[in-house]
Amino acid sequence: MGVDDPYGREVVSPKKYAEDSFSGRIVGEEGTNIRHVCPALLSGETPCKLKLTLVDILVRDGWNEKDVLSARVGDTLKLITGQKFQVVVIDGHRKEIHIEEIGEGTRTDMDGQEGRISFAPRTVKAKRYVYQARDINEKKKSITIYDLTLGGEESRAGINAFINELMKALPIQLIHCFDEIRISNESLTQDGSFKPEEGVFIDNNVINLHVDPWNMEDPYYRKLMLRTFYHELGHALAKHLMGSPHPGRKWKNAMTSDGNFISKYSELMKYAKIPQDSGEVEDFACAMELYLASDGAVHRETELRTACRTRFELLDQIFQDLISERSQGSRLKILRVFGIGNGPNSLLN
Ligand SMILES: [Zn+2]
Repeated sequence: MGVDDPYGREVVSPKKYAEDSFSGRIVGEEGTNIRHVCPALLSGETPCKLKLTLVDILVRDGWNEKDVLSARVGDTLKLITGQKFQVVVIDGHRKEIHIEEIGEGTRTDMDGQEGRISFAPRTVKAKRYVYQARDINEKKKSITIYDLTLGGEESRAGINAFINELMKALPIQLIHCFDEIRISNESLTQDGSFKPEEGVFIDNNVINLHVDPWNMEDPYYRKLMLRTFYHELGHALAKHLMGSPHPGRKWKNAMTSDGNFISKYSELMKYAKIPQDSGEVEDFACAMELYLASDGAVHRETELRTACRTRFELLDQIFQDLISERSQGSRLKILRVFGIGNGPNSLLN
């Protein structure tokens, strides 16, 4: 928003977050700066059963998996809804944890899981899609997508369109950063608001996207979800290069140099369990989201590029290096972009 100063010059009020400079128009899929891979569909919509890992189960049920797995009797565990529970019993084989809600004394409805957190294996119905992509050196890479949504047949067309769009929008540089995408129903918090992040990237190279399957027919909604995919690709890339979702010292310096946070979310979200994180983890993922959504902000979205100049120059360099990645030498070159000189052993700094 511009306002006139007393001398008639236009004064542009500074924007607090870099994302305020983004028009919201997603140009990633149609742009020419970032090369898209367009993987071939090997097998589509195959019904299957997917065995969930313990971490999958806990995350799906709304727990912080690290807190649950390290819990001791007497500890307090917090559900994503904000409800707090005290650990009463942990069975000897760690097959389940008995919990009691702290507070009003009302029994809670945890979908039949009331009063216990079960570590029993769980299998869910899914539809599987297998794609094959080739990197710049023609090296093959298989990508599996599981649709775990409960939308039924009426949402199939929308889900299929979304999967197709995800694969069309995938940059060739990023195909080795993850192996699998899982699309699940979004979970709501108790007050009806959505979880802060619609996606999650977990350590086993799986990108989880949480969607409303009944909204998938809406192209605008799918574009918003595509941005979430880009965001999770940011976490996946950091993990792939750094061995940690933290993008390193040089990214932190770039944030200081640009003088802003990408978004309010990246300003607020800090991971206490990632020791050196003071907002860089989410800033990197949010930067990736906007970088891919704007096709690198080279031809359009120049205001966005100005707001993220130093960070986007780092991303330009990473994308350039990834496309020419042929040897360990070029991998080390990429790591140096992040301010790391001595290879994977000194990743955390
Ligand atoms: Zn994130």
